[in-house]
Amino acid sequence: MTRPSPDGEGPSFAPGLPLGAPARYDGAMPDRDDIPAAPRFLDVALPLPVRRSFSYRLPAETPAPAPGCRVRVPLGAGVETGVVLRVLDAARLEPALRDRPERVKEILEVLDAEPWLDAPLLRLGAWLADYYGAAPGETLRAMIPVKPLKRPRQPAPEPTPPRDEPPRPTPAQSAALAEVTAALDAGAFAAFLLHGVTGSGKTEVYLRAIAHALDAGRQAIVLVPEISLTPQAARRFRARLGERVGIFHSGLGAGERLAVWRGAREGSLDVVLGPRSAVFAPLPRLGLVVIDEEHDGSYKQTEKPRYHARSVALVRARALGAVVVMGSATPGLESLHNARTGKYRLLSLPDRVGGGRIPRPELVDLREQEGGLLAPALEEALDACLGRGEKAMLLLNRRGHSRLRLCRDCGEPQRCSRCDIPLTYHSGRERLVCHYCGQERPLAPACPECGGRRWVLLGAGTQQLEMDLELRFPGVRVLRMDLDSTSRRGAHQRILDAFAAPGPALLLGTQMIAKGHHIPEVTLVGVVAADTGLFLPDYRAAERTWQLLEQVSGRAGRGERPGRVIAQTYNPDHPVLAGLAAGRSGDWVERELRDRRQLGYPPFRRLTSLLVSAPEEEAAEEAARRLRRDFRDAWPDSPAEMLGPAPAFLPRLKGRHRRQLLVKGCLTRDQKAWFSEHFAAIARAMRRTGALGLDLDVDPESLL
Ligand SMILES: [Zn+2]
Ligand SMILES: [Zn+2]
Repeated sequence: MTRPSPDGEGPSFAPGLPLGAPARYDGAMPDRDDIPAAPRFLDVALPLPVRRSFSYRLPAETPAPAPGCRVRVPLGAGVETGVVLRVLDAARLEPALRDRPERVKEILEVLDAEPWLDAPLLRLGAWLADYYGAAPGETLRAMIPVKPLKRPRQPAPEPTPPRDEPPRPTPAQSAALAEVTAALDAGAFAAFLLHGVTGSGKTEVYLRAIAHALDAGRQAIVLVPEISLTPQAARRFRARLGERVGIFHSGLGAGERLAVWRGAREGSLDVVLGPRSAVFAPLPRLGLVVIDEEHDGSYKQTEKPRYHARSVALVRARALGAVVVMGSATPGLESLHNARTGKYRLLSLPDRVGGGRIPRPELVDLREQEGGLLAPALEEALDACLGRGEKAMLLLNRRGHSRLRLCRDCGEPQRCSRCDIPLTYHSGRERLVCHYCGQERPLAPACPECGGRRWVLLGAGTQQLEMDLELRFPGVRVLRMDLDSTSRRGAHQRILDAFAAPGPALLLGTQMIAKGHHIPEVTLVGVVAADTGLFLPDYRAAERTWQLLEQVSGRAGRGERPGRVIAQTYNPDHPVLAGLAAGRSGDWVERELRDRRQLGYPPFRRLTSLLVSAPEEEAAEEAARRLRRDFRDAWPDSPAEMLGPAPAFLPRLKGRHRRQLLVKGCLTRDQKAWFSEHFAAIARAMRRTGALGLDLDVDPESLL
């Protein structure tokens, strides 16, 4: 059996061996003394969806790059950038090449003088590829989120804000901190869950723990969920810890990103703050990883490799004897469970700094209301709040103007032609937009189903709410924060600054408004539709609703004046909503954990989602069925349970039909690898190579 090699000649695999076996990348490092004088070869991981690595020859005059450096290499007719795994002599080439080493192609260029990935990071990459069933080359590329620049420019240094004086810690903060610093002093791995209510001063604990690690000569990574949180967090961390804090996020230019990564590697930075990819920051003396809002879904990468930054942080820290502090007001149920079973150590901050009370939501039963978007109780509360010169926030977790444009004659919505999803109406541009693929369509004059010409808009979104509020509260500053209004760089901060300026103001928006802002003048939070996410077909739907409502409630009453939260709902008796209103959300957590244990969901059993897609519905269905049958045949003794195939939550997306298989229970490293490799065989057998797709998601964050 022979397989085509992506680079034409000079394949580095031995014919007849199973794919992936010969050059299985184990993160092992060579001894420097081991490296022969000449000829020399490099084992290179390329960002391709395969498990093998590739051999290239090093030109005689080129000094051998260290493992973890990037090289440019020829690949087929093109050029690719890969990561050096090790230096080999001819004797260690694969058998097929050993006798004819002259067939091996030369590399074009060594891009780095110093490696981006040191030995522990290369080992972390090996773990990540195995655990998430991802290709090593794709994994290593994700771990180096900077691009080579022709002429790297040093960005202008940011002004250094005078240093802030630290406030006196509360007794609860001091107690939590004492445990963390003791663990740092012990120099052994430890994981803490810092469960602190909104406004309880978790950041102060992070800052002091980081200062302690820096004093001991170690370094820190701070993970924050979203780019939107970064400017505020960055200011605060810089103000306390000085200019040795590097801020990393996707909104930076290539030069700025490179400067942060280089500063981490070369020692001019001791703290790197950023979203999930910052977990790979090449700090050589990492001693502490802080994960703020540890429950946040954005820590899971949605494209390959589909890693969870919290899991990666824990694995990286364990290998280095470092400490992880995971903070949240609404920890994920997995984390709460891990704290109960002793995997994490639980630290509590039960009270707000300054003693303010966290308001419980008052529920407004929409079943008994008529008319507009806001029930009279919420309108009156808004009148009173704005009348006192205070500020209010309104959550509506649905962007656009209206969720549906429906034919009055036959009841059909206008749908996306590629996804079968009803299109969302956006005012201003007067367009219909698919929120899944981004496709924009004009408003059809006639219904494609029945030819009717009478339309109705249903399901109000943030744009419609904004218009209503501007009419209802003339003269009041109304600001909208959602994906559409924050697409420009810096827009998010401009909206927050305008809202925070003195005087009455209304901020409305999607879940973005629930996150991390500290604006003391906010005394009222309104939830326009508390049920929006409650009944989505995902076992986490209720947990997500609980977290969102608890987080948005936490925005109210952070100053001197008490806050009020009013939530409109059609389901006031739902355990999540009733629990929050009664101040007993712990009851809901217990009940939910009991249900999950019974149904075999995380944290009690692991999940892996396998999404099979094809342009034709029959092909997707058949490939999914074959995959299920062949898994049972190949692994008859596996205790893992496979459900499906069933149509995915979005049965058709971007022109592809989607079928989902769900595996409950642990899969081994070999089983995860088997899925990708065997799926390729199924595609060949069905003569659908290139058309069939398999998306393997280990520990999926969402089943939607
Ligand atoms: Zn119609
Ligand atoms: Zn679409």
